[in-house]
Amino acid sequence: MMTRYKNVLIVADIEGSSGCWDYAGSAFKTRQWVNACLAMCRDVDVVVKRLVAEGVQQVIVKDFHRTGYNLLPERIDPRCRIVSGYRRGPVPGVGNPSGAEAVMFLGLHAASGTDGFLPHTLTSRISNLLVDGQPLPEIALFASSLAPYGIRPVFFSGCPVACKQAEDVIGGIDTFSIEKSGNVEDFDARRWRQALAAAAANSLQNNRVTPYLPEGPFHATVSMRDGQAVASRLARRWGFEVRGADLLIQAENIDSLYRDLIRLCYLTPLVQRLLPLSLGLFNLQGRIGLAWLRRRLKEKTNGEQVTAR
Ligand SMILES: [Zn+2]
Repeated sequence: MMTRYKNVLIVADIEGSSGCWDYAGSAFKTRQWVNACLAMCRDVDVVVKRLVAEGVQQVIVKDFHRTGYNLLPERIDPRCRIVSGYRRGPVPGVGNPSGAEAVMFLGLHAASGTDGFLPHTLTSRISNLLVDGQPLPEIALFASSLAPYGIRPVFFSGCPVACKQAEDVIGGIDTFSIEKSGNVEDFDARRWRQALAAAAANSLQNNRVTPYLPEGPFHATVSMRDGQAVASRLARRWGFEVRGADLLIQAENIDSLYRDLIRLCYLTPLVQRLLPLSLGLFNLQGRIGLAWLRRRLKEKTNGEQVTAR
């Protein structure tokens, strides 16, 4: 069957990938992270190969975990382009989506304040994030930031709770879950990965889903894990209303909600003023982490245990 989409963007995260089984796996420069990165590379590689085999002509993979430097391009099919680190805009983090028609989310996680595997929205410092009474998963923000380009969110993978949230937010999206409540030794990564790739390829026929652009205004309640003092400081810093450990954000549209949350989670006024420089330094930190990862993988031959399957 002819594929409907020729130009696909993949947004890849680590928590819902096949190699991240605890918080340490999602952290930076840990032994568990090394394994998680290897498995994330394999997940992405298998999906890319399958999409290309189905006739997709351009696949761009945006690494969207932590520093944005978790994928090793040398371990992934060269017919895709890996984009590491973060861009300022026009799409926050992504930059220019380069003519993509569809976006697939791989390895994502559930929203802050919900069940699921390592649930969080943008940062684990947010313990709960409700928008008009509903938990806000990251896919709502990411998919809506791509909607002005007509990009359809066709596919999502993550833990079962994350998949359910994606389906609740985006009508018609295809999902494929990874169950991590069992024993890691019993998990057949190879087999899961092949099924993931098949499901992703099926979503190339998904014409039910449309670009996701919900109508505002939005009322968000953001509960800060570190409590009242931190919430008050952030409220003063950005001019949000505060009630106890909760910040109250009113946003006209989802784009302005996303930008407010980015400020809250990642920026200070100084960092924002110097954003090209701050982003450059942040990306540099990511590249240093990736160099560390490559060294660790070389040491593997010297007796280090690296056990990604
Ligand atoms: Zn992540």
